[in-house]
Amino acid sequence: MGALTLSQVTKSFGRTDVIKGVDLAVEDGEFCVFVGPSGCGKSTLLRMIAGLEDVSSGEVAIDGARINELAPARREIAMVFQSYALYPHLTVRDNMGLALKQAGSSRAQIAAATDKAAGMLALGPLMDRRPAELSGGQRQRVAIGRAIVRTPKLFLFDEPLSNLDAALRVATRIEIARLHRELGATMIYVTHDQVEAMTLADKIVVLNAGRVAQVGAPMDLYNDPDNTFVAGFIGSPQ
Ligand code: ADP
Ligand code: MG
Repeated sequence: MGALTLSQVTKSFGRTDVIKGVDLAVEDGEFCVFVGPSGCGKSTLLRMIAGLEDVSSGEVAIDGARINELAPARREIAMVFQSYALYPHLTVRDNMGLALKQAGSSRAQIAAATDKAAGMLALGPLMDRRPAELSGGQRQRVAIGRAIVRTPKLFLFDEPLSNLDAALRVATRIEIARLHRELGATMIYVTHDQVEAMTLADKIVVLNAGRVAQVGAPMDLYNDPDNTFVAGFIGSPQ
């Protein structure tokens, strides 16, 4: 299970209110996409869900249990960033296994989990390489593999394909959709690419200046926007 609930979540940096009372329910197994202009608070919201940033007020809950005070490593949440954040001196295998090692898993458990993730992402031939010996697309697959290895309840993706060229973006997007079907996990995915949003999402959350402007299925937002902001954002040409 991996249902996420945000209740009146706010975030202020000093005197600046960045997230201004967000209510949201993401169902178990759902693919939820956050869109909105640069600076509207998408990354801040993901970082609070992951525990990388404190919540100023309100509640974050998984399967009905409050997690505000839970350390990031104990949240069963994995986050994939735009920058791959791999350790340059470690092999692909060790980058993927590190979180399990830290959590006290046995060598055999780590090997089984990393081999399984490598199989899902066709990383087998790359396991002994270091990040510098990989292309951008391969590095991002390793970052996704590292997330899978932890068998999280919830995956958070923060613009994971922004650094890839157009062809690779499409290929990786299709791969993420396949992983979502195979793993059945809840995924929250931030993007500024409308095609990604429209094709991946069960549900799109449009954010504007720290508030939810509208939530709905892609075609519902497209055909029946609540306001001009949503209409302009979802319907604007790329
Ligand atoms: P997005 O991901 O939607 O582009 P962010 O969540 O990164 O937006 O940022 C939302 C707002 O919060 C921006 O105005 C940004 O400058 C501000 N912000 C983000 N992190 C910090 C921080 N650590 N300190 C101060 N302001 C921040
Ligand atoms: Mg961001």
